[in-house]
Amino acid sequence: MNIANDNTSKAAPCPICRKAPTETYKPFCSKRCADVDLARWLGGTYAIPAAPSEPDEDEDELAPRGPCPSDED
Ligand SMILES: [Zn+2]
Repeated sequence: MNIANDNTSKAAPCPICRKAPTETYKPFCSKRCADVDLARWLGGTYAIPAAPSEPDEDEDELAPRGPCPSDED
């Protein structure tokens, strides 16, 4: 067993081009690959694991308030 020198294989390769990732852009090897991955996300190629649930802000569309019947006399 002589894997002491095998330093690069510990990190997963760039998912785009399979090169060794850099510290700055890991897990990608470069900004280009990071951008490619981002574009895939935005393009819907990747499945989004969990979309954040947006709170309902429809409070202005609750039932309209009618005139109070007890004031009509
Ligand atoms: Zn790459």
